[in-house]
Amino acid sequence: FEPVAATGVAAQMARQTRQAIVEADLVIFVLDGRQGMTPRDQDIANELRRSARLVRVAVNKTEGMAQAVAGAEFHALGLGTPSSISSAHGEGIVELIGDCLDAVEQAQPGLSLPEPPAAPSPHPGDPDAAAPAEPERPIRVAVVGRPNSGKSTLINALLGEERLIAFDTPGTTRDSIAVDFEFEKRRYTLVDTAGIRRRGKVHETIEKFSVVKTLQAIEDCNVCILMIDAIDGVSEQDGSIASYILDSGRALVIALNKWDAVPPDNRAWVEQEFARKLHFLSFARMHPISALKRKSLKTLMRSVTAAHSAATSNLSTPKLTRFLLAAIQHQAPPRSGPVRPKMRYAHQGGQNPPVIVIHGSALNKVSESYKRYLEGWFRDRMALQGTPLRIELRSGANPFAPKTPR
Ligand code: GDP
Repeated sequence: FEPVAATGVAAQMARQTRQAIVEADLVIFVLDGRQGMTPRDQDIANELRRSARLVRVAVNKTEGMAQAVAGAEFHALGLGTPSSISSAHGEGIVELIGDCLDAVEQAQPGLSLPEPPAAPSPHPGDPDAAAPAEPERPIRVAVVGRPNSGKSTLINALLGEERLIAFDTPGTTRDSIAVDFEFEKRRYTLVDTAGIRRRGKVHETIEKFSVVKTLQAIEDCNVCILMIDAIDGVSEQDGSIASYILDSGRALVIALNKWDAVPPDNRAWVEQEFARKLHFLSFARMHPISALKRKSLKTLMRSVTAAHSAATSNLSTPKLTRFLLAAIQHQAPPRSGPVRPKMRYAHQGGQNPPVIVIHGSALNKVSESYKRYLEGWFRDRMALQGTPLRIELRSGANPFAPKTPR
């Protein structure tokens, strides 16, 4: 925390830290007991005195130091008696946490602190013991798109406050950011994306689209929101981001952003144009939105949730086989010479994206277009909107199969 930094990453980190201080019930101010007190420690102490609810001072790296000496000088910060700890050696930590919890409880009587984990059941395997409901995991969402498409605006709209900073300044490396948020009582985790940053910063002009970060974010998420600037149309860069998403097999929702700025008379046409240009992503729902005016964000997030359910759904073998047979009855795979591919049954071979494995004979003769037909058929019947779907064909070795004439 560098409270006096005015520019660059340090200033952005300071903003994020201030946010955390305001939100926290208690702040642990960690100091370096080897280095001793610095003027900056005083600055931080002043800031904490102004804005923190409760503060505990922890003087770290004090292993091997006499208790009376360790941390004594930090009394001068005026934030109470310092606790000496050694994080590396685990010394003084339990006492520090106990002290913090007591302080919070005293300050807010009746506050319910989390219960310690329940002891394991004395009767493991007891059929009457109710199985604990598995908590719903947050859906990991990545907002990707080219610079200026409105990613930061959308993210801040979803988070409901300005708490996002990015570390895209050249020369800095940071772990990727993941922020949890709730939208309509559903939990999501936002994973880091190229271009997450605040507006109006000096380095904005030199920011480049980062392929590596985009790929990481796509890799890291369950569902991608592809942000497209509805005013600019589909650019080459949009196309390449879309193809990364397609290759990754991630679930996808497309947002046509800045819809507020599209003249109402043109909207129907513009939407059609996007659908045509993004035809290869037709498995994904497309939503015109306005991140700036916070329009249609609910429908967008509902599609994110639906895409996630589709990507992780369990498809039963009897159902898949039934749909397969119906598909064949509706339109049989075309003959290839004297051979007609025979499909017998289908089962699920994977999730996220769902893989449907079809077994039969001479399936190497099935054309790509017939595979696409099957994909569409399964997608419609099994409500798999929002996720890519992979069809795998496996021919069993059949020694009696008719030989293909040369
Ligand atoms: P990023 O580079 O993708 O993070 O894009 P930003 O969120 O920084 O937005 C780029 C510019 O587009 C800013 O000037 C935003 O105010 C503007 N913008 C973002 N969303 C919308 C929107 O829904 N409508 C309009 N009209 N402008 C928007």
